[in-house]
Amino acid sequence: MLVVMAKNATNEQIAGVQDAVRAAGFTPRPIPGGERVAIGILHNQGPVDPSLFSSLPGVSHTIPVTKPFKLVSREFKHEDTVVDVSGVPVGNGHFTLIAGPCAVESEKQCLAIARAVKAAGAGIFRGGAFKPRTSPYSFQGLGEEGLKILAKVRGETGMPVVTEALDTAVFDLVEAYADMVQIGARNMQNFSLLRRAGQSRKPILLKRGMSSTIEEWLMAAEYILEGGNTAVVLCERGLRTFAMHSRNTLDLSAVPVVQKESHLPVIADPSHAAGVAAQVPPLARASAAIGVHGLMIEVHDHPEKALSDGGQSLLPGQFAALANQMRAIHELLDRQGAETGAQ
Ligand code: PEP
Ligand code: MN
Repeated sequence: MLVVMAKNATNEQIAGVQDAVRAAGFTPRPIPGGERVAIGILHNQGPVDPSLFSSLPGVSHTIPVTKPFKLVSREFKHEDTVVDVSGVPVGNGHFTLIAGPCAVESEKQCLAIARAVKAAGAGIFRGGAFKPRTSPYSFQGLGEEGLKILAKVRGETGMPVVTEALDTAVFDLVEAYADMVQIGARNMQNFSLLRRAGQSRKPILLKRGMSSTIEEWLMAAEYILEGGNTAVVLCERGLRTFAMHSRNTLDLSAVPVVQKESHLPVIADPSHAAGVAAQVPPLARASAAIGVHGLMIEVHDHPEKALSDGGQSLLPGQFAALANQMRAIHELLDRQGAETGAQ
């Protein structure tokens, strides 16, 4: 349940409601809104009796929360969340391009790709230093050396960097270097990793598991918010289906559903969905048209030599052309939204 305070509620009244929530055996979580404060009630088993709180001083009304996820839900927070990635906004009216190679391979490789994607309009650089690979014989990433290269890329280009933390053991290290920490599809329900991400002060990019429902995905995000970290960006990266023509099936139908259910930004990753470079631009265009808040695209200057995911990587020139199309689609949607008042 959500206890919505009156616009003119005093700090004492807000504290009083929190005391009452604690006295009832629950956890209060104040959620500052644009005009008024709401207090979320966490850790209740079953429905909460609204009469416990509705007549307390300063309370406007209570809203039952019908979903199993709470802090991530629109019922809890109506306005879109904008996640700040070291100065680059993700969410609401912004359209953010995240681009870079699958894996950090060398300083030369990363700097060349970073300069190219930045010139094309990317806001955030990506590159894996710890890679989740199907085979233990495949390139596993450069580890801390890769993180140092990412820090260098940030220093040289000014772009914030996002990179994956494969497990809790490396989280501290990744967090120390990265502007945003990625939790990969295979780890979406790694609950100890989610809890560690909840303790982090860095924004988290939470990819959807390849066979996860929307509810499971939002519950995974709930772990992070419940831990105290509200800076979460969701990323749809394709589901495992019977399709043989692509690596995964990009579930764009999830995007409007997630946007209805949650205030968190949602982006798409057509690269890992397609697994084939030629399919990436059309899927990216469809993602932009459906209204994602951004895209994650793999780019490599020599895809044929890439140590990971070369087959799905765009050349820098292809990325630049795509970035122009993305901006055009986003501007069109913005204009339509402004004209019709709907979006
Ligand atoms: C990645 O982004 O490098 C990655 C491994 O993606 P996913 O977890 O979606 O497979
Ligand atoms: Mn990859």
